[in-house]
Amino acid sequence: MGDRREDLAAALAEVERRIGDACRAAGRSRSEITLIAVTKTYPASDVRLLAELGVSHVGENRDQEAAAKAAECAGLGLTWHFIGQLQTNKVRSVASYAHMVHSVDRPRLVDALGREAVRAGREVDCLIQVALDAEPGEGGAGRGGAAPQEVPALAGLVAKTEGLRLRGVMAVAPLGEDPSAAFARLRAVAERVREEHPAADVISAGMSGDIPQAVANGATHLRVGTALLGRRKPFVR
Ligand SMILES: *Cc1c(COP(=O)(O)O)cnc(C)c1O
Repeated sequence: MGDRREDLAAALAEVERRIGDACRAAGRSRSEITLIAVTKTYPASDVRLLAELGVSHVGENRDQEAAAKAAECAGLGLTWHFIGQLQTNKVRSVASYAHMVHSVDRPRLVDALGREAVRAGREVDCLIQVALDAEPGEGGAGRGGAAPQEVPALAGLVAKTEGLRLRGVMAVAPLGEDPSAAFARLRAVAERVREEHPAADVISAGMSGDIPQAVANGATHLRVGTALLGRRKPFVR
C-alpha cells in the first residue's frame, strides 16, 4: 500500500501544474482562482491530509456525508462548499456547516435556505446553479440548475433574502458538448448577473476533465475531485 499523503501531495502538485498552465494560457493570475477539493466518497482522513497540504476549500455533494466530515474536521479552518442537488428537507443541516452553496436553483430552496441560515445565526454564500444543456427543461441527467433565462430573477431573490449572500453562478458542463462553448454561455449569464449585483463575481466551473476550458472562460472556483483523490467507486455518484 502506498502512502496516502504522498499520493495526495503528488496529485495536488499535478493539479496545481495544470491550473498554472491554464492561467498562463488564458493570461490570468493563479490568485484569481480558488481550488475546491471535492472529497465526496473519500474519508475525513483525506480531508485532513489535504488540509495539511495547504488545501483550505472542500466540496461535498451529499448532506449526510458532508455533515459528518465537517464535524470531524472542525477546527481545521476549512471552508465547506455544498455542490450537490439540495432537497429542502436537508437545508437545515446544510445551513449549519456550509459556507457556500453552489446549487441554488429554485425559489423554494432560496426561502428555505434563508430561513435556516437566519435560525442558525449564519450568512450563507449562494451561487445560482445554471443548467447549460442545449435542450432546456431537463437539468441534464437530473443534475439540476435553473434555465439561463430564470437566473436574473432567482439572483434577485437571493440578493434580497436575509441570511443569504449572492456570490455568483455555478455550472457543470453538459456531457457530449465542448466544455468551452458551455462555459462561454455560463460567462454570459454571470456577466448579466453582475450588472445588477456587482459583488456577485464568482464563477464556479471546471472539474477534473475541463480545467483549461473553465479557466479560459473566467472561472474563479474549480471543483476538482478525481484528479486529486482518484477515481470514485462507480456505484457511488
Ligand atoms: C463530483 C463533482 C465534481 C468533481 O468532479 P471530478 O470530475 O471528480 O473532478 C465537481 N462538481 C460537482 C457538482 C460534482 O458533483
